[in-house]
Amino acid sequence: MYVSKNLDVNAEGHLTIGGLDTVSLAKEYGTPLYVMDEDLIREHCRSFKESIDRYYGGAGLACYASKAFSCKAIYKIMNEEGMGVDVVSGGELYTALKAGFPMDRVCFHGNNKTDDELALALENNVGRIVVDNIFELERLNEMAEKQGRTAKIMFRIKPGIDAHTHNFVRTGQIDSKVGFALETGEAFEAVKKAIALPHIELVGLHCHIGSQILDIDPFECAAEVMLHFIGKIKKELGYEIRDLNLGGGFGIKYTEGDNPVPYDSYMEKVSEKVKAVCAEEDIRLPYILIEPGRSIAAPAGITLYTVGGIKHIPNIRTYVSIDGGMCDNPRYILYQSEYEAVVANRAAEPRTESVTIAGKCCETGDLIGEGMPVQKIEVGDTLAILATGAYNYSMSSNYNRIPKPPVVMIKDGQSRVVVKRETLDDIIRNDVD
Ligand SMILES: *Cc1c(COP(=O)(O)O)cnc(C)c1O
Repeated sequence: MYVSKNLDVNAEGHLTIGGLDTVSLAKEYGTPLYVMDEDLIREHCRSFKESIDRYYGGAGLACYASKAFSCKAIYKIMNEEGMGVDVVSGGELYTALKAGFPMDRVCFHGNNKTDDELALALENNVGRIVVDNIFELERLNEMAEKQGRTAKIMFRIKPGIDAHTHNFVRTGQIDSKVGFALETGEAFEAVKKAIALPHIELVGLHCHIGSQILDIDPFECAAEVMLHFIGKIKKELGYEIRDLNLGGGFGIKYTEGDNPVPYDSYMEKVSEKVKAVCAEEDIRLPYILIEPGRSIAAPAGITLYTVGGIKHIPNIRTYVSIDGGMCDNPRYILYQSEYEAVVANRAAEPRTESVTIAGKCCETGDLIGEGMPVQKIEVGDTLAILATGAYNYSMSSNYNRIPKPPVVMIKDGQSRVVVKRETLDDIIRNDVD
């Protein structure tokens, strides 16, 4: 009925998530409010893990890309589910550390990691540092030498495949700020160099071809390109690459128009391709890593708002103002992302109106969506925006000095706060008189 399967309507006609009444949740915790369904998050983790077991003999690891939604609670959940995690900054790494996440299952990404961030990763024996460029490689080797360690690294490769939602191009897409290019020989030179460096252990190669990808073809194509490169490294340098990280980007259903393939079919198809190309290249089957972010977190979350005002502009449009906006969900102003909206206290009724949902920030473009079908909507209603579990809280800001909403997690029909609501004093906590 809705884009996410954990949503329903109860006897009072209220929207429910994970079996709990969203109107009651809004009353109990206030709005704006992020609500995440832990049971669904865990189910997504299991489906990725099981697909690796079923189609690839368990020789791989699903790493949750924690930039999608990061807080201590989520790293605990990922640990309990036996997942790996990706981090992209010292802040995400520190949060994982403080949540007790095992560092050998961490991939550390980023195109410009600072010395402090690299030191934190080295000191804590992060399992895979994904090196983006030659300067980082040299710096990391020096830092590892000083610490008397060897850094385990992967290289971020641009495989020349650029995937978007409904199509992908196989160009030599080298115009990207991230990674080493294949076509120019840059990647091959970096591999040669890494093999020779005494404090670097090159364990694998990594690529990430896009986000919200709804097909499998681009992933198969990327795997093929990467494995031919691994074959070349073996043939010409006699060096065997152990790990192949195929990145994330698995699409989700934001609106009825999105039709993502079931997650386990990614591994089914990609495993076949990997086995075929490995046989052709006469190389060992690599240990495979995949990095789902959005697909784990997004469908599990919703955001609840209270409607504060409505402006009907005749023959133009109707603005519905909510108590949040681009500060808690900047995806419309950034990408014109589409969402499904539901009047939570009137969820059983048909969606007869079409409205523009406006945020409260001082910015004309601060909208959650335009032409959004909703039920009859009135001031005081609770409005739910669906599938906001990824790239909402993690991209939230304090623009206009608006405190960030709390995150409430639901498990087995019980709700609990995993991130507290910011207070006005939180807003000024770093201000110096
Ligand atoms: C963003 C990112 C991911 C996750 O992408 P999703 O679209 O959220 O699945 C995985 N790996 C890397 C390197 C990324 O930058």
